[in-house]
Amino acid sequence: MARTDIIVLGAGIVGTSIALHLAKRGLAVALVDRGGAGEGTSYGNAGIIEGNSIFPAAFPSDWSQLLRIALKRSPVANYHVTFLPRVAPWLMVFRAASQPARLVETAHLIRPLMARAVSEHEKLAAEAGAERYLRHTGWLKLYRTDHAFAAQARELELAKSFGIANVPLDRDAARALEPSLAPVFRHAVHWAGAVSVSNPLALTRAYAARFAALGGLTFAGDARTLHRARPYWRVDTAAGPLDSENVVIALGPWAPDLLGPLGIKLPLAVKRGYHRHFRAQGNASLGRPVLDAENGYCFAPMEQGIRITTGVELAARDAPPTPVQFGRLMPAARELFPLGEPVEAQPWMGARPCFADSRPVIGRAPGLSGLWLAYGHGHWGLTLGAATGRLVAELMTGATPFCDPAPYAAERFTQ
Ligand SMILES: Cc1cc2nc3c(=O)[nH]c(=O)nc-3n(C[C@H](O)[C@H](O)[C@H](O)COP(=O)(O)OP(=O)(O)OC[C@H]3O[C@@H](n4cnc5c(N)ncnc54)[C@H](O)[C@@H]3O)c2cc1C
Repeated sequence: MARTDIIVLGAGIVGTSIALHLAKRGLAVALVDRGGAGEGTSYGNAGIIEGNSIFPAAFPSDWSQLLRIALKRSPVANYHVTFLPRVAPWLMVFRAASQPARLVETAHLIRPLMARAVSEHEKLAAEAGAERYLRHTGWLKLYRTDHAFAAQARELELAKSFGIANVPLDRDAARALEPSLAPVFRHAVHWAGAVSVSNPLALTRAYAARFAALGGLTFAGDARTLHRARPYWRVDTAAGPLDSENVVIALGPWAPDLLGPLGIKLPLAVKRGYHRHFRAQGNASLGRPVLDAENGYCFAPMEQGIRITTGVELAARDAPPTPVQFGRLMPAARELFPLGEPVEAQPWMGARPCFADSRPVIGRAPGLSGLWLAYGHGHWGLTLGAATGRLVAELMTGATPFCDPAPYAAERFTQ
């Protein structure tokens, strides 16, 4: 029977960062995934390491926006009608957590992780020889109306109080940064401290390669085979059963498939999202990700082309893709940037693993010794992956954690 110090289940950006941090501390670690590292949700994001973000994505407070979403006319969000009854309790909690005072509270609670987001990725990327994927040019949020820009005032104020660099720009100044953008917007904010990634899959793979170089072992296997084989936990892999006293569950949106049968039912929902790459016309290019705020999509310059990522779709995780938001957003996208032909025949779909309070769960699993949880990073999984890796490794090895892990404990849902 093969035995190891720690098994990490899930080789997304979160699990791979955890495995790498544990291996750096000299532990024998096995990383188990049914596919390749970084091929799940971590494959398809907009590549923004947002360390300077303040407020999480919130339930719309504007009734006209809500009405457009309800009428299925908004590019910002889509939903499957049949899914609404199932997600309604979660949405109610999400709506409550989107009240202004609660957003400020969340901003404070997430800040210790956010504050380390960029620097922790920079360290791992340097060790993994992956610095070439990191772009230190920030990201740009565009506002087409004065109203939408004015609504950011509170966030900009709070950012200032956190000492975060953001630069409000008029249209011309924004176009000086990104000359290929058409002047169809009125305001912009340059969040200068953010870093973006030109190939999120390659970044996770580079971390996985560094993990392997440190002696870490990777196995193909189904995490749902995890069971007690006292005094160990056992998971079946393609190379045979694997035992360990400690297991980290970093399965992103799939974590409930394993945790439910073990009796751990935490209120995770998914916000599905899509991307598709496009060629740029002529010499048009972007030097950083650009958000078209009112339309809820992002242009993310990637090695594969200009990646357009959509906003949110509320639907069952495994329901067939319905990428209707592209139809709604493409006129605005083509107006803003000279897009050419799509690169792929079909959009990619992923599912952001989200708790309604916009905080991940990081720490021990309640009531199950040796089991650790690290999932539910929502819109910020790439951002917080490397910092989560450090925090989990510090907690598991008894080191002083770089921040208080209490706000991320699973017990906030169970007590
Ligand atoms: C359109 C879109 C845009 C986004 N943009 C950003 C962004 O710009 N910045 C940002 O910070 N975040 C962004 N996100 C969110 C971010 O991508 C996710 O939060 C993050 O990838 C989650 O990482 P993870 O490691 O927890 O999960 P995953 O990457 O999904 O990893 C989970 C792993 O578990 C494995 N797995 C699942 N079930 C099993 C099983 N039974 N057995 C074995 N293995 C299993 C999967 O194969 C997968 O590799 C975006 C998400 C989307 C969808």
